[in-house]
Amino acid sequence: MMSEFDLIVIGGGSGGLAAAQRAAEYGAKVALVESHRLGGTCVNVGCVPKKVMWNAANLAEGLRDAPDYGFALSAGTHDWGLLKDKRDAYVQRLNGIYEGNLAKRGITLVRGRAHFVDGRTVAAAGSSLSAPHIIVATGGRPLLPPIPGAELGITSDGFFELPRRPQRVAIVGSGYIAVELTGIFAALGSQVTLVLRGDTALKHFDSMIGESMLRILREEGVSIVAQAWPSALDRDARGSLALSFRDGRRLEPLDCVLWAIGRAPAVEEWGLDRAGVDLDAYGFIVTDKYQDTSAAGVYAIGDVTGRAQLTPVAIAAGRRLSDRLFGGQGDRHLDYQTIPTVVFGHPPIGTVGLTEQAARDDYGDEAVTVFRSSFIPMYHALTTAKPRCDMKLVTVGPKRRVVGVHVVGPGADEMMQGFAVAVRMGATKEDLDDTVAIHPTSAEELVTMR
Ligand code: FAD
Ligand code: NDP
Repeated sequence: MMSEFDLIVIGGGSGGLAAAQRAAEYGAKVALVESHRLGGTCVNVGCVPKKVMWNAANLAEGLRDAPDYGFALSAGTHDWGLLKDKRDAYVQRLNGIYEGNLAKRGITLVRGRAHFVDGRTVAAAGSSLSAPHIIVATGGRPLLPPIPGAELGITSDGFFELPRRPQRVAIVGSGYIAVELTGIFAALGSQVTLVLRGDTALKHFDSMIGESMLRILREEGVSIVAQAWPSALDRDARGSLALSFRDGRRLEPLDCVLWAIGRAPAVEEWGLDRAGVDLDAYGFIVTDKYQDTSAAGVYAIGDVTGRAQLTPVAIAAGRRLSDRLFGGQGDRHLDYQTIPTVVFGHPPIGTVGLTEQAARDDYGDEAVTVFRSSFIPMYHALTTAKPRCDMKLVTVGPKRRVVGVHVVGPGADEMMQGFAVAVRMGATKEDLDDTVAIHPTSAEELVTMR
């Protein structure tokens, strides 16, 4: 049986839900097809359960520091299983809330895997759906390296299934997930080795960030193995894992190896070619600034497009697309410049705008003025552990327009949203200098740098 809609959305994650709901608010008749749990990566195996674990790790650090503030604590244990159960229950509640939100807006939810029949028709769960507009919002999945035994390791998906905390953990990768999960495991008591194939982490961020983060991780007792290309993963008779590297080094014994080496787009085997949708060399769907693909009436948003794989980006792209298609806002589209982002490491990293190097490349060395600050946050004046907070402002031109703000340190996560507004509005160093500081905070350093 064929059902006709104004819009079909494939994928009920951050982007798909946002696009579907915005279109329905304009009165469009919308079908949303989801093959797994509503909420997608962010809600089920990403931002949300990760932030719960990050909160737990923060508490562990607070407990470690508490005696320095006069608390007499007896050594407590952490119940990973209890935390997992409560976290999973929270996520399940969210799944239900998302389903309710769709129902409230009259959106037809089709539970099943979508396949393109042609550029206007999608088959799912035994039905045929047709619409003049189809949005692909299928996200991605974590990559495994193509080496023998890779399947003995886990990815971020497996992290959220762990029934108990592994003690000896190797995390392979150097991006967001590697840094975030290293911080969580380490704070909760695991012995962690971070395995980098190069010399630094978070290479796509300002160079200060990777240097600062690796220094802090070392101080916190994390082992860093650099220039290490995994070649095989084995399990011995007693169940321990051994990670071998191309240069003959081996890391063992390990209880858990976690691959955090990037994500691949979910584009396989469901007929995108039948719709005439072009992919780039890495398999991501090619879109223009309006999220249009090469096929008329087919659009793509979020991680499957490979641009800034972040929840608010998928949501913003989805909402703007529906504003354009159903809200009469003909030029509405997402500006992918100046997107703020936080790596929820321990400590967190907040960043918006250009790295120092990118500013030098874009504007020339002469035009760039950089301001830095490195200090021990007041909270740590009393604690035994003394991680530093590092900050950098990147400015350009005679007016010193602020084009980049980079912070590694406690509070960076909450600090960055407001500074992102300032950068987007074209704030200059003088504007920051003219802003009265809030004292005593770490954030005040950003308006008092000289
Ligand atoms: P997804 O959320 O992945 O949704 C895609 C949906 O499509 C899925 O539900 C999938 O089941 C469905 N689907 C796929 N194929 C089909 C098909 N053929 N038919 C029907 N349904 C299909 N971002 C942040 O901004 N902040 C964070 O703190 C953060 N933390 C993260 C932590 C981890 C561990 C990970 C992995 C990611 C994190 N992200 C974070 C990134 C964020 O989760 C993604 O950018 C976001 O979920 C992308 O949304 P999306 O709609 O593009 O795709
Ligand atoms: P990232 O792209 O952040 O980092 C992966 C890194 O792993 C690469 O940059 C590369 O770094 C390294 N790498 C790649 N292949 C290999 C390999 N074969 N062996 C060893 N190292 C390798 O990917 P993640 O998986 O960490 O995260 C995926 C995406 O999810 C992120 O890009 C981000 O958009 C999103 N995310 C966002 C979060 C947030 O907003 N807080 C949190 C988590 C994820 P190098 O070249 O330096 O070796």
